[in-house]
Amino acid sequence: MSSPNTSQQPSPNTEKLSSNGSNSPEEDHLLLSSNQNLKPIKHFSDLPLSPKLLTAIGELGWHSPTDVQKLCLLHAIEGDNILGFAQTGTGKTGVFLIATSQLLLNLNHDLPPKDQRKKTNGPKYYPKVIILAPTRELVMQIQEEFEKIANNLPLKATLMIGGLDFDKQAEQLKQHHQLIVATPGRLKDFIQKDYLSFDQVKMFVCDEVDRMFDIGFIREVEYFLAKIPQNSQKLMFSATSSDTLEELCFEYLSQPKIIRVTSDDITPENIIQRAIMCSSENKLRVFLGLIQQHQPTRAIIFVNTKVTAIWLHEKLRANGFDASLITGDLPQRKRTALIRRIKSGQIRYLIATDVASRGLHIPQITHVYNFDLPNEAANYIHRIGRTARAGAKGYSYSLVCDEYGAHLDDINKLLNVKVPCEWYPEEFLDIKLKDLPIKTPAHKPLPEKRQKKATSPKSQKPKATTTQTINGNQPKPPSSNVTGQGKTGSGLISWLKSKIRKKTS
Ligand code: AMP
Repeated sequence: MSSPNTSQQPSPNTEKLSSNGSNSPEEDHLLLSSNQNLKPIKHFSDLPLSPKLLTAIGELGWHSPTDVQKLCLLHAIEGDNILGFAQTGTGKTGVFLIATSQLLLNLNHDLPPKDQRKKTNGPKYYPKVIILAPTRELVMQIQEEFEKIANNLPLKATLMIGGLDFDKQAEQLKQHHQLIVATPGRLKDFIQKDYLSFDQVKMFVCDEVDRMFDIGFIREVEYFLAKIPQNSQKLMFSATSSDTLEELCFEYLSQPKIIRVTSDDITPENIIQRAIMCSSENKLRVFLGLIQQHQPTRAIIFVNTKVTAIWLHEKLRANGFDASLITGDLPQRKRTALIRRIKSGQIRYLIATDVASRGLHIPQITHVYNFDLPNEAANYIHRIGRTARAGAKGYSYSLVCDEYGAHLDDINKLLNVKVPCEWYPEEFLDIKLKDLPIKTPAHKPLPEKRQKKATSPKSQKPKATTTQTINGNQPKPPSSNVTGQGKTGSGLISWLKSKIRKKTS
C-alpha cells in the first residue's frame, strides 16, 4: 500500500449499542462502536441542511431517516470519515447523496462571483466530489437518486461509465465537473487522458467496496485514494468486512467513524416468509402453481446458476408468464432498458442470479421467490430484503428441493428463527407444462444468390412445429455440468437454449 496515513486510528472493533442514552426499541438493535461518540439523529430536521434540500427529501416521501441515515448523516455532513457496513436496501445511498448535496451547496455559496473564478488552461477539470461504485448500473441508480434529491437545487452530476460514449461524457464534464459519479475503469481513463485532477476533491465516496474488491478493482480504489488530498473526507460503504478493507481504511481513512447496521435490520418484520417443500422433479409445476395462485404485482425469482436462469426463463415464457432474465453479461444498454421496463410495470417477473442482481435497485417488489435456495445463508437475507422496502409489506417463498434444501438449516440459524414450512396443494401437480415453439427463421427477403440456393430441393427442410405440450415426464432443469467452452455473451445464451431444448424435448 502506498502513502500511509500516519494519523491515529481507532480500533476497528464495533459492538452492540446498549448505552447510547436511548432505550427506544427502535434504536436498541443498532450496532455501532461504543467509543466513537456517535451522534445519531432522529429526524432529518435535526441536520444542518439547506431548507431546499430538506424540502426535496420530504418530496421523495422520506419522512424519517432509516437506521443507517440516523447514524451516519450528521457525521457525513460534518466532514467525518466513515466506514459504514450496510447493505443495499438500508438507505445508504441517501447518506452520501444528502451529504454530497449539502457540501456542494456550501461550496457554491462560498464561490467568488462567476467572472472572478480562476480559469484553468487545457482540458483539466477539478471535481469536488467523486462517487465511485463497482457497476455501471449502480452508478446509474446513484445518479437517478441524486437527480431526485437535487431536483430543485442548482446541482448536476457527470456520469462516467464504460460502454457509453467517452466524448459525450467529456462534453458533459465541461458543464458539470463538480460532482462525478463513476465506475473505476472509466474514471481512471479520464485521469490518464489528463481531463481530471483530484487536487480539489473535498469528498470521496466508495460504495459497495467489498463488491469492488470481488470484481478486482482494489488497485483502482487505492490509486484514487492515493490521488485525493489527504485531508479530504472519505466515505466507504461495504456489506461485509475483510482484511483488505480494514487495511485500506487503516492506510487512508483518518479516524473514521465505523458504523454497522446489522443484517437483521434489513430483514424487516413485515416480510411473510414461507418454505415450500417439494421434490426437484415437481419444482417447476409447484412454482408455476404458486405464481398463478399469488398473482404478484412485481416479483424477483432467484436461481443459483445462469443455466437454470435461462432454462426457467424459457419455461415461464412458454407457460404464459411475462418473465425477463438478467445475467451478468447482458450488455449495459439492454440492462438499462430491462430495468426501465420493470420499473414501468411492463415486466412482472424478473429471473436473476445473486451476482447479476447485486446492487440492482428495483422498487416495489411484492414477492421474492427462491426457486433455488441460495448456497450461502447470507444471500437469503440479501434476496428477501428486495421486498418490503420503505415500510411496505412483502412475501418471500422458497422452494426447498432435494438439491438445495439442506441450506435451509443454515438460513434458519442465521435468521435465528425457523422459516415456516408449507406443503403445496396437490392440484399443482396437474398443471400441464408447455414448451416454446421452435423458432422459424425470420421472413427476410434473401439476397438473390441465396434465394436460388434456398429454393433448391436439397435445402428444403421441414417446417417448425407449433407449441408442444408435455403431459408426461417433467423436464428437469439443466445440470450444472453443461459446458459452453469457447462461447460467450449472446452466443453462449443461444447455445445453452438449444442444449436445454434438446434435453427437455
Ligand atoms: P439504498 O439502500 O440506498 O439502495 O436505498 C434503498 C431504497 O430506500 C431506495 O429506494 C431509497 O429511495 C429508499 N430510501 C432511502 N432512504 C429512505 C427513507 N429515509 N425513507 C424511505 N425510503 C428511503
